[in-house]
Amino acid sequence: MTTLIDGRSIAAEVRAEVAAGVAQLVAARGAPPGLATVLVGDDPASQVYIRSKRAACTHAGMVDLHRHLPVNVSQQEACAVLDELAGDPAVSGILLQLPLPPHLDAEALLARIPAAKDVDGLTTANAGLLAQGRPGLRPCTPAGVVRLLDRCGVELRGAEAVVVGRSLLVGRPMAQLLLQRDATVTLAHSRTRDLARVCLRADVLVVAAGIPQLIGADAVKPGATVIDVGIHRVDGALVGDVDARAVTGVAGHLSPVPGGVGPMTIAMLLANTLAAAEEQGKLGA
Ligand code: NAD
Repeated sequence: MTTLIDGRSIAAEVRAEVAAGVAQLVAARGAPPGLATVLVGDDPASQVYIRSKRAACTHAGMVDLHRHLPVNVSQQEACAVLDELAGDPAVSGILLQLPLPPHLDAEALLARIPAAKDVDGLTTANAGLLAQGRPGLRPCTPAGVVRLLDRCGVELRGAEAVVVGRSLLVGRPMAQLLLQRDATVTLAHSRTRDLARVCLRADVLVVAAGIPQLIGADAVKPGATVIDVGIHRVDGALVGDVDARAVTGVAGHLSPVPGGVGPMTIAMLLANTLAAAEEQGKLGA
């Protein structure tokens, strides 16, 4: 039997914890955390993501310090905005919504975000801290996956974990986080030979390849926990990187699409913003 992982309710728990933490911080310090989301241009998908992030931020009792920059903003102007936010004590966290218009250098802009305010966990500094197993702000999606696994009581220590996809946003940090929890980690990618055979060894299989229904029953060990990070609209329906119908009955746990990993990403963004505000408070104390 396959148990579906209820990402919506686990995300709601995280958000309630964050809201309680925010209330405590306000009681102790008087000022709530502030989240500065930065959107460049009018990409419709990015607008939807930013709207959800801003609404969740306000709902958790944080201050929404959103900045919307025109699509033709220059690199210099965008840098200046990020530098201003970096120096503003009311800003606990900065999130630069990607992708950016092609004339902008995303890497150079991300580099303007101080590690302590990098609530997306995407700067080189935070990636380095994660690679070294040192404390830092972690990328939201993989951090959310670990939270789902913990909440479902999945043992990670000594487990065989396979991550499919090696992006900086999901796959790589996912592998690092699982390694930090003492899993034996294999990182598979587009050049991996015989992907199904590699995946079959997994007790925990995390799929972030960006290919609809890439993983079928032939790639899943009976009883394995399967986390589907992918999200695609196919013929009007949302599907993941896992063929959910095929692996149902084979997997022990499965995160559905929608309603699995997706809701965790925003919940972990809020958790990171609260953690950043708490750390900044300690430094300022
Ligand atoms: P990406 O395109 O940056 O990276 C995909 C990775 O998959 C690459 O490293 C590539 O090597 C690997 N890959 C591609 N084809 C493969 C194949 N045939 N076999 C094995 N590996 C293969 O994508 P990403 O940003 O990591 O996102 C992955 C998916 O997760 C996308 O569908 C994206 O929409 C989704 N996503 C969801 C959330 C969420 O909150 N739910 C967050 C981020 C990404």
